[in-house]
Parts: sequence; C-alpha cells; structure tokens
Amino acid sequence: MSQTIPHTQLSSEPEVSCSSCAACCCQLEVLLFGDSGVPPRYIDTDQWGGEVMRRLDDGWCVALDRDSMRCTIYEVRPLICREFELGAVECLEQRRGIAGAYR
Ligand code: SF4
Ligand code: SF4
Repeated sequence: MSQTIPHTQLSSEPEVSCSSCAACCCQLEVLLFGDSGVPPRYIDTDQWGGEVMRRLDDGWCVALDRDSMRCTIYEVRPLICREFELGAVECLEQRRGIAGAYR
C-alpha cells in the first residue's frame, strides 16, 4: 500500500495509489496457502475445503478497517495480498469495478 507508479506507465489512469483507492482488491477472495500469522477468527473454509480470508456479507475482507480502509493485519497479511501488484491489470480492473467509490 501507499505506493505510486509513474503516470507515464498508465495510459488512462490519472494516478494509481492505494491511498486514493477504496481498497477494491480487499473484496476479492483470498486463498491462504499455509499462511502463518493470520488470526484464526479471520479464516473461513471454502466449499472445497480450502482456507480463505473470511468476508462480510457485503464482500469485504473482515481484516479491513472500514474507517481507514486499511488492512488491520498488514504485517501478517496473506501471501496473495503481498503479491497483488499495484498498477497491474488486476488492480486496474478492480479500481474500475467500483470506480464510484473514490470519485
Ligand atoms: S486495487 Fe490496487 S490501488 Fe486499490 S488497494 Fe488494491 S492494490 Fe491498491
Ligand atoms: S488481509 Fe488485508 S490486504 Fe488482504 S484482503 Fe484482507 S484487508 Fe485486504
């Protein structure tokens, strides 16, 4: 979070920064691959028996602070969250998906 990438790398995005984003990617399913450190109360089991981050009825990850829109377990966040790349295709798609949230 709180990174920025050069404007020139993006054709139509004014700026891509987590600080100007509604944490869109924290609505995605997050599979846990033996991730240690995630508090058990934040973990659910999916229909195939895999461990995932628990999500609220509205889709947001339970570890997201809804006031600050920041991860409350940032230091021990899952591998998928660590590897989700700011400015990558998936990030831009998520931002567009709920664009109204940060206009
Ligand atoms: S969707 Fe992209 S800009 Fe938004 S919080 Fe996730 S990584 Fe950051
Ligand atoms: S663990 Fe943190 S970074 Fe990962 S989806 Fe949940 S709130 Fe977002």
